[in-house]
Amino acid sequence: MFGKILIANRGEIALRVLRACKELGIATVAVHSTADADAMHVKLADESVCIGPPPAKDSYLNIPALLAACEITGAEAVHPGYGFLSENARFAEILIDHGVAFIGPKPEHIRVMGDKIEAKKTAKRLGIPCVPGSAGGVSTDEEAARVSEEIGFPVLIKAAAGGGGRGMKVARSPEELSSALSTARSEARANFGDDAVYIEKYLGTPRHIEIQVFGDGKGNAVHLGERDCSLQRRHQKVLEEAPSPVITPEQRAQIGETVAKAMRDMKYLGAGTIEFLYENGEFYFIEMNTRIQVEHPVTEAITGFDLIREQIRVAAGETLSFTQDDVVLTGHAIECRVNAEHPRTFRPSPGKIGYWHVPGGLGVRIDSAVYQGYTIPPYYDSMIGKLIVTAATRDECLARLSRALDEFVVEGIETTLPLFRELVRNGDIRRGAYDIHWLEQFLAEGEPGN
Ligand code: ADP
Repeated sequence: MFGKILIANRGEIALRVLRACKELGIATVAVHSTADADAMHVKLADESVCIGPPPAKDSYLNIPALLAACEITGAEAVHPGYGFLSENARFAEILIDHGVAFIGPKPEHIRVMGDKIEAKKTAKRLGIPCVPGSAGGVSTDEEAARVSEEIGFPVLIKAAAGGGGRGMKVARSPEELSSALSTARSEARANFGDDAVYIEKYLGTPRHIEIQVFGDGKGNAVHLGERDCSLQRRHQKVLEEAPSPVITPEQRAQIGETVAKAMRDMKYLGAGTIEFLYENGEFYFIEMNTRIQVEHPVTEAITGFDLIREQIRVAAGETLSFTQDDVVLTGHAIECRVNAEHPRTFRPSPGKIGYWHVPGGLGVRIDSAVYQGYTIPPYYDSMIGKLIVTAATRDECLARLSRALDEFVVEGIETTLPLFRELVRNGDIRRGAYDIHWLEQFLAEGEPGN
């Protein structure tokens, strides 16, 4: 096992990793930008190193500074969290070349899954069901037209290098195709420096359902059930739950075994998430994330496993500590991403937190690195905490979430808490009757009676 781990991240995930390290008896090194000198992860770590000025490209994405921090502190491994360098295969390779372990998948798997065209080809080869679409990239208008006629309109043009919901364009008819294609290409070039695009059937009313997988790199791999992340705004997740209200135990076992087998075949190492769209009883692969996800706590809540601890164990060369038979799902969990944003316009609201009171009680977990008097810097993403609630049934979970949200008080900044208070009382949400477009429609319609 490692003696010392450097955590190459900030905010709640840095704290989450730090907590797992402490419980494993591993020393921790925090890194921070000059804007984060007062951050909680810095205060709680055994050692800390300043790695640069506020912009992420000069600090949290600064590979030479991170390498130097490993060298100065003697850290044996790096946990990248999510975002930043977590899916950067080159970073993983550089660390390995310098004798530092990367707590994540093998670089070749990060690379393959980071290219959406390659990822889809790989998924198909491994027997994972995919959205019908082009076999690879499409380079000409004629090819795009041929593929689109074959799969039928509407179609979605997606950037091979895409991420964060950017570089996607819908074409509803042959007439719209050529302009959608050129817009998608120029957006992809501007955002990702790569204008390769591919085409998929556009699904009208899908849910976003993802399966958590885990492997030890030696051919052992399991699935830990699904998370339903259909409540999205601009393709960004807002609330997640596990299990999904619409998946049966038979469907779970079937899709779970399909992906677990694929991970065994790949000899996948560490935590991963296979994302699907789900419509009319069918699963369609969209991408694989080769890292821990923001919403991992809902899976922890219903399986009882500490996923960060397991990431660290397998990165140190240990065998998975549980088998598929040990994975038993109990109860229901819901996570709300609390952002420092206006609850309707979503305008970021950085600034000083005047008052901070978090809910507690049975089944309530808060993952947050902010505190009363803390000033949220304007440079990074606006998530300030996650509220995760667990109960025996979905109805009890919603009731508990409702009372937890009522206890949550944040003053001095705007937060998305009022939105969650509305959502938890909404009939469609209570019935679990929502797809990936539901939230945007709800927001566009405004409050009933207004
Ligand atoms: P990104 O990496 O940019 O997040 P994804 O491929 O994961 O891109 O897709 C993000 C979101 O876009 C999905 O959660 C879904 O809401 C929507 N989406 C992606 N592919 C399709 C599709 N074929 N049909 C309809 N919606 C889609």
